[in-house]
Amino acid sequence: MKLFGSSGIRRVVDRDFLELTSNVGLAVGGLYPSIVVGRDTRTSGDAVKSAFVSGLLAAGSRVADAGIAPTPSLAYAARDFDAGAVITASHNPPEYNGIKLVNPDGSAFDSMQRERIEQLVGDSQYQLAAWENMGSVEGFPRAVERHVERILGDTPRDTRLKVVVDCGCGAASDATPVLLRRMGCSVVELHCTPSGHFPRGIEPIEENLQELMAAVSTEGAHLGLAHDGDADRLAVVDDRGRYVNGDVVMALLARHLGVTKVVTTVDASMLIEDLGFDVVRTKVGDVFVSDVLRATPEERRADEFGGEPSGCFIFPKMSLCPDGIYAALKIVELASLRPLSELASELPRYVVLRGGMPGTSDAMDIVQRRLAARNDGNLETIDGLRLSYDDGWLLIRASGTEPKIRITAEAKDERRAGELCELGRETVNESLRELESTSR
Ligand code: MG
Repeated sequence: MKLFGSSGIRRVVDRDFLELTSNVGLAVGGLYPSIVVGRDTRTSGDAVKSAFVSGLLAAGSRVADAGIAPTPSLAYAARDFDAGAVITASHNPPEYNGIKLVNPDGSAFDSMQRERIEQLVGDSQYQLAAWENMGSVEGFPRAVERHVERILGDTPRDTRLKVVVDCGCGAASDATPVLLRRMGCSVVELHCTPSGHFPRGIEPIEENLQELMAAVSTEGAHLGLAHDGDADRLAVVDDRGRYVNGDVVMALLARHLGVTKVVTTVDASMLIEDLGFDVVRTKVGDVFVSDVLRATPEERRADEFGGEPSGCFIFPKMSLCPDGIYAALKIVELASLRPLSELASELPRYVVLRGGMPGTSDAMDIVQRRLAARNDGNLETIDGLRLSYDDGWLLIRASGTEPKIRITAEAKDERRAGELCELGRETVNESLRELESTSR
C-alpha cells in the first residue's frame, strides 16, 4: 500500500483520510515508544492531529504535544524523543493536510521506515496496547522557543535591519518575526496571523510573493523573507524589491557558511559547481539531500550544506531537516554585511529554460539510448537523464504526478540554452515516435 510521497503523506481531508491518519498513528505508535507531535496552522490541524494521536496512544506511545510548530522546530524537538511527527501539507492548498515523520536527527523517515509503516497499515497489523499500557499526552509548549534560542545562539551580531516577513499565515507566524526582533531587526509583518486561511498561494514562489516585493519597496526595507505553510522553506526578496531565485540564495548561503561541500538536486543550477564547491547531486526532493548528508559522520557535518532551488536549505550541524527559520537568520546576517542586490549581482548569471511535452516514462529508455548514442557530454541517471557539458546541461525527467516529460536546460547564454532545450525536445519527440511505431 503506497501512502508516502517523498515528503510524507498528503491528501485532501475527508473521512477516509481521518481513518487513515488514525491507522498510521497505530502503526507508528507500535514502533516508537515516545513521539513529539506538532502541526501547522491548517484549520483541519486539530482534527487530523487528534486522529493521529489517538492511534499513537492506543498503540501505547507516550505523546508530547507541541501545538502549532514549524516543521524545523518540531524536528529540532525530536532529538529528545524516539521520533517526531508534523501534521502538515507543506505548500499544498489549505484543504489538504498530511503527516511528515522525522527521526531524532531531524531527517525525514527513509524509504525503509516508510515501507514498514505502509506494510503495517496495508495489512491492518496493529498491536493495541493492553489497558494498563495505553499511552498518555503531555504538553510540550516550548518547541518553537527552544528552536529559536538554539538558532540565536549561533549569531554574535546585533543586526539592525528592516525586514518584511511574509509567513502566509502559516506555522512560522509566531517564530520568524520573534527571532528577527531578538536579533535587533525592525520587523514589518505581512500575513503573520497563524490562522491557516492562506491569503496568498502558500508556495513561496515569485508569482505568490508580489505583495511582499511591493512591501519591501514601499517600506524601504533591507530585505523581504517568506515561508511556506510549515516553514521548512525560505524565499528571499532583495533590497530593491526583487525576488532572488533559489539557486542564488543557495549559492549565497553556501559561501556565507564557508563550507566546502554542497549537496543539491539534479535540477539545481551549475552556479554551485562554478563557485568551486565540492558538489554532490541527488534526486529531486529535500529528503534525498538529507539522506546524503546523514551518511557523513557527525564531526564532519559542519563543513557541509544541503539545499534545493525550491528554497529548502539544510544546515547539518543543526539538524537534517530543511530549516527556513535558520536560513532566515543566515540571510539577514549576510544582508547586514552588504545589500543582497549587490551580493547577487556579483554571481555569474546563467540562462535556464524549462519546457515539457505530453508523454510517459515508457519513452525514457529510448531517450536514454538516444542520448548515450551521441557519445558527447556526461550522461547521468540519478533522476531522469542529465546530460552535462562544460558550458551547460540538459535534464529530461518524466513527471511523477502527470503524464508529462519535463525538459530543463541551463547554459551561460541564451543561444546555448536554446540549443540544449531543442536537443531535449527533438530527442523526446523521436523517442515517442519510435515507441509508438514499435508498439503498433
Ligand atoms: Mg514545506
